[in-house]
Amino acid sequence: MTTVTWVEVNEDSGFGVENLPYGVFSRPGELPRVGVAIGEHVLDLAELATAGLIEGRWFASGSLNAFMAAGRASWQANRTRLTELLTDESHRPQVEPHLIPLRDVELLRPIEVADYVDFYASEHHATNMGRMLRPGGDALLPNWKHLPVGYHGRSGTVFPSGTPIVRPSGQRRGESGPTFGPTLKLDIEAEVGFVAGVPSAPGHPVATGDFRDHIFGFTLVNDWSARDVQGWEGQPLGPFLAKSFATSISPWITPVAALEAARVAPPPQDPVPLPYLHCDEPWALDLDIEVLINGQTVSRPPFSTMYWTAPQQLAHATVNGASLRTGDLFASGTVSGPERLQRGCLMELTWNGREPVELADGTKRTFLEDGDTVILRATAPTPTGSRLALGEVVGTIVPATT
Ligand code: MN
Repeated sequence: MTTVTWVEVNEDSGFGVENLPYGVFSRPGELPRVGVAIGEHVLDLAELATAGLIEGRWFASGSLNAFMAAGRASWQANRTRLTELLTDESHRPQVEPHLIPLRDVELLRPIEVADYVDFYASEHHATNMGRMLRPGGDALLPNWKHLPVGYHGRSGTVFPSGTPIVRPSGQRRGESGPTFGPTLKLDIEAEVGFVAGVPSAPGHPVATGDFRDHIFGFTLVNDWSARDVQGWEGQPLGPFLAKSFATSISPWITPVAALEAARVAPPPQDPVPLPYLHCDEPWALDLDIEVLINGQTVSRPPFSTMYWTAPQQLAHATVNGASLRTGDLFASGTVSGPERLQRGCLMELTWNGREPVELADGTKRTFLEDGDTVILRATAPTPTGSRLALGEVVGTIVPATT
């Protein structure tokens, strides 16, 4: 049962009126502007505002940042008004002219990314990686259950879905010293990110209970990774060039308010984290993720199994007084469940290349080959029992240029 909108929406589309994710689009010869997805259409919010049907001066813009900075009251008011316009048939004559078929638009990067942080919040992923990287040692390092481990990534190379991914070159460990060349171990990381709207002041940490006042929404993330480069450069400071060449995000940012029905209790945390990481509300999200390579589903990672939740990550990232900026992107880290076919990267799925996965055409993969296309998808429950979709993230690998 879905909420009824007068827009024709395929029941399985995941883009019913319960979702209303925000994005930025353009048509040939026109300036980019903000829209929301509904079924197979984008609703042009810049035109709706010009027509006086919604409030706001934020939508004739090439990014969501101005609207994201406007704050929760504005986000809620706009969502309420859009829901009214799309469900009350009496508004149809005024609103329908501002619906544009998605096939007629180009979807752009939805946000101007300020800072970018990537966490490492799946216990299954961290355990698997620990086993491969430190055989015989402890799978989890001593800090892992006390704080959400993360690193600062490169915001300038966060690309919208559909951007071709150039195979990066770099240094790899060799028999007699390092070698240089295109990575031989190009991988994906299926992740879920959240985006900051309202900034915070330096010196003022954001408590877990203030998550909704600062965070605008969630998006799917593919944190492309060169494992051979990573294995050589990563000691002792962690990911650098192995990650900084490209990160892909969905063209749509799903509002926090659309995911309230997806909130579930996270796995029990033992030992109990320090007080600043305590969270009163359950904030794991029941998102079913799907990873496809060349059309073949290779994994279905369950986001609900993540050990650290988004409000805990936000509280940790700001507890030292580091301030938030509008457009900050925080990604979860690879989402891996307990089962083999729930692992969110090829390094785990193939156990560092030892157990290839078979694709639909009968070919096998350990890591990605040139020409491969990776798609990430995710769905979440809504209050009406239907499922909404996070916008998919697509990337095709093209040959190295160096
Ligand atoms: Mn990652």
